[in-house]
Amino acid sequence: MGGASRWWLHQALESLNHSLQDKLNIFQGDPLTILTTLIEETSASSIVWNRCYEPWRIARDSKIKTALKDQGIEVDSYNGSLLWEPWQVLKKDQTPYKVFTPYYRRGCLSKTPPRKPLGIPGNIRSQAVSQSALTLDKLQLLPSIPWDTEMRARWDISETAAQDRLDEFVIDELEDYREGRNFPNKANVSRLSAYLHFGQISTNTAWHRASDAAALIDNESSIDTFLSELGWREFSHYLLYHFPQLPSDNLQQRFNIFPWAENTDADLRAWQQGRTGYPLVDAGMRELYTTGYMHNRVRMVVGSFLVKNLLIHWHRGEEWFWDCLVDADLAANSASWQWIAGCGADAAPFFRIFNPVTQSEKFDKQGDYIRRYVPELADMPAKYIHAPWLAPAEVLAAAGVEVGANYPAPVVDIKESRERALAAFALTKNIT
Ligand SMILES: Cc1cc2nc3c(=O)[nH]c(=O)nc-3n(C[C@H](O)[C@H](O)[C@H](O)COP(=O)(O)OP(=O)(O)OC[C@H]3O[C@@H](n4cnc5c(N)ncnc54)[C@H](O)[C@@H]3O)c2cc1C
Repeated sequence: MGGASRWWLHQALESLNHSLQDKLNIFQGDPLTILTTLIEETSASSIVWNRCYEPWRIARDSKIKTALKDQGIEVDSYNGSLLWEPWQVLKKDQTPYKVFTPYYRRGCLSKTPPRKPLGIPGNIRSQAVSQSALTLDKLQLLPSIPWDTEMRARWDISETAAQDRLDEFVIDELEDYREGRNFPNKANVSRLSAYLHFGQISTNTAWHRASDAAALIDNESSIDTFLSELGWREFSHYLLYHFPQLPSDNLQQRFNIFPWAENTDADLRAWQQGRTGYPLVDAGMRELYTTGYMHNRVRMVVGSFLVKNLLIHWHRGEEWFWDCLVDADLAANSASWQWIAGCGADAAPFFRIFNPVTQSEKFDKQGDYIRRYVPELADMPAKYIHAPWLAPAEVLAAAGVEVGANYPAPVVDIKESRERALAAFALTKNIT
């Protein structure tokens, strides 16, 4: 797990332990050995768990299931995180879908609707803490250097907080989701991704709560869009299940010969640190580093900038996001990076290169999102904040900005780097 996810997990386990009246049992080590010891300690005759979809977890859990069944234990696994099982949604010829819209509209929506969530159990009979259980601190999930000050202030990591967040979103923000979700400074996205990833709220709960809002709000297309974003979450797990090489291999093989740039350490560092000289990219990368989250529109812009303008392999972006995102998710992260890089199943075409300046002018018109995360530019007028190097000297002086000194000059030229990317892509065109 990356640093930000480990940090989130610590608080999530702490909160769960609290809900279970301090009866959460934590173990570390080989799961089969631990389960076997627990079976002996408790005389358990049956074991249940929720399924995971990462390839290494599927392999691990299948092995455990077989071994426990061989010991005469009853074992059952359940779907606790997806709306539809990946193996249930197939094309007529029984092969997996590779394109989102038919997968979701024709495949998923024609199946039995997602089940309604169950309430909190009234009574959980739980064992006292086992002799061999560890305290949470022993997992050493928290950082040794305290980089999490802002993150602590930003997130309330509990199941109740997830429920409250969903309520607030449905009541106040869902109605304008379709349009509002494009603007990073607007409060129209749910920010539920980390809670969903860690199972602090179920996708079924989000799905039904949003669907039921049709009775309350006029703009049903916003509900449809929100549900289809949950559909994208499903699709990424679906792709990972059917194409387990998703985190590492280009799904479109012609990208295997793509001529990535060399000697890119300085550019990669500038991107990671939010010092590229492109304010929207820098704001996004700093939002990520300080809060563990980045708005989806900005994730697309910074991703396109890394892969296309800097010509840096999508793996480097995937790794950095993995370490910094509180919602880091193997399926969503790798599917999204392949989508951005153009090499995925239903990917944005490579030639669709986001221009960070026009994206900024369109989606952060007044520059408020930029000002929040790039304080050096706080006093820049909206007209020039998207491309400060083009501002007249007197405007820069009045805003206290010195391009190349207290705010970086652009690391690449947008037009030239776009042409370089298209030329690189042209080399892959004749390969299928
Ligand atoms: C390069 C890149 C990397 C990404 N990495 C991750 C990741 O590691 N983990 C992750 O959960 N999402 C990832 N996403 C998808 C998306 O950006 C986030 O899910 C979304 O921004 C989370 O914010 P939200 O909860 O406010 O989303 P909302 O707009 O409120 O959407 C509701 C939920 O739908 C799901 N969702 C929305 N968009 C997508 C999408 N494109 N793909 C998959 N699920 C989606 C999420 O679970 C989200 O919580 C990535 C996107 C890009 C472009």
